[in-house]
Amino acid sequence: MYNAGMKIAVIGAGASGLAASLQAAWHGAPVTLFESNAVVGRKLLVTGSGRCNITNDGASAEKYACADRQWMEALLRCFGVQDLLAMLQEIGVLVVKTPDGWYYPLSNSAQTVVDAFQAALLLAGVSLRASSRVASIFSSGRGFRLRYIHENAEAEEDFEKVIVAAGGKAYPALGSRGELFPVLERLGHTLLPKRPALAPLLVDLQDLKALQGVRLDAGVTLWRGKERLASTVGNLIFTQWGLNGPAVMDLSHHVSAHPGQPLTLSLNLLKFFEAEFDDLLSQKRETLLPARVLLGAFLPPKVVSFYLRAARIPEDAPLKQVDQAALARLVRQLKDTRRTVTGVRGFEYCQVSAGGIPVTEVNPLTLESRRLKGLYLVGETLDVVGPCGGYNLQYAFSSGALAGLAAAK
Ligand SMILES: Cc1cc2nc3c(=O)[nH]c(=O)nc-3n(C[C@H](O)[C@H](O)[C@H](O)COP(=O)(O)OP(=O)(O)OC[C@H]3O[C@@H](n4cnc5c(N)ncnc54)[C@H](O)[C@@H]3O)c2cc1C
Repeated sequence: MYNAGMKIAVIGAGASGLAASLQAAWHGAPVTLFESNAVVGRKLLVTGSGRCNITNDGASAEKYACADRQWMEALLRCFGVQDLLAMLQEIGVLVVKTPDGWYYPLSNSAQTVVDAFQAALLLAGVSLRASSRVASIFSSGRGFRLRYIHENAEAEEDFEKVIVAAGGKAYPALGSRGELFPVLERLGHTLLPKRPALAPLLVDLQDLKALQGVRLDAGVTLWRGKERLASTVGNLIFTQWGLNGPAVMDLSHHVSAHPGQPLTLSLNLLKFFEAEFDDLLSQKRETLLPARVLLGAFLPPKVVSFYLRAARIPEDAPLKQVDQAALARLVRQLKDTRRTVTGVRGFEYCQVSAGGIPVTEVNPLTLESRRLKGLYLVGETLDVVGPCGGYNLQYAFSSGALAGLAAAK
């Protein structure tokens, strides 16, 4: 048996590990936080393009790709958006909400969020082991021994409980490389293959390559043959290798789940204003208004020229002279442009990773392993993916906070 005392180890100082450490320390437990980077919250710093999109009013279970909807419901019921906002206020982070429900720090700076957590850790008496990479976890049934590397030297320390908040495999340059998954397997957990999620899509754009650099709002549907896998709406960016932006990133976990299968994307460039488009078209159909001007009311000039050329309609053609079949072809293409998806960009380019430990192996109220008492798994270590918009940080903070609370009891 190890000499564990009542100590709690938290592995990883990302969103989930920071929340876990604070909650455990606030509830009276001695906490040691291990982080392989020299500083805490490195990934938090880059979230929301440096602004940190911290949560979302829409954060409810059905928004997440999670094998067990009720598991997610239970977790968010115990620590939801309001609980997170209260915790943030407690450590000195105020927030502002966009009209569509996305929350950011009032400062608009992720750095201030990391600073606030860092100060709170210090005040709560959390012992931080920076530049300390945990290499292994051993269990005696009554406690845990952690083996870690600090400044090229190996060291060991015993704990009563361990919270694994080491993330997944997304953006490995910021510290999460999935190195503890084999350790968790050895401790009795199942490992679902890790795969990129919230990643840009590789798409055979063909002539749409001409739109490189264009950014617009659209509806996007992913098809496997005749089966509709998923649909999203949101911002879309045409690139050299395919498509980027929330609208396609939110579909990427479906793409990485079907490797080598024939997948097709359908883009609806009129999705956000179909009724307005139909109205204006019917008002102007019999007038001399140039086709280019009609489309220009809704779409960027590059897109207008591309689609008129594709429908073989001269840009300056007055609408009353445009042949009905050509007009129908134009509208059809604007609402349903199809291209083949060839894959997703790799872990280096994705915001989160899917796969990892199945949620069913962890209690949603405490995040304690159902396989090994005293072991807690949180954040991206588990197989949960939320869409863009603050959902992933909400889940990481929620799971971390609940584990910290439970472990301190
Ligand atoms: C570019 C980018 C932008 C994003 N923007 C947003 C956004 O605006 N809103 C949103 O909700 N989500 C966003 N996300 C996703 C969000 O950052 C993640 O969902 C979240 O950070 C996951 O938290 P985590 O604690 O599970 O893992 P991580 O944040 O990855 O933290 C894990 C930590 O563990 C450490 N670690 C790993 N292994 C070990 C080890 N063996 N020993 C010691 N330490 C270890 C790592 O160094 C890391 O610091 C973004 C992600 C990226 C990459």
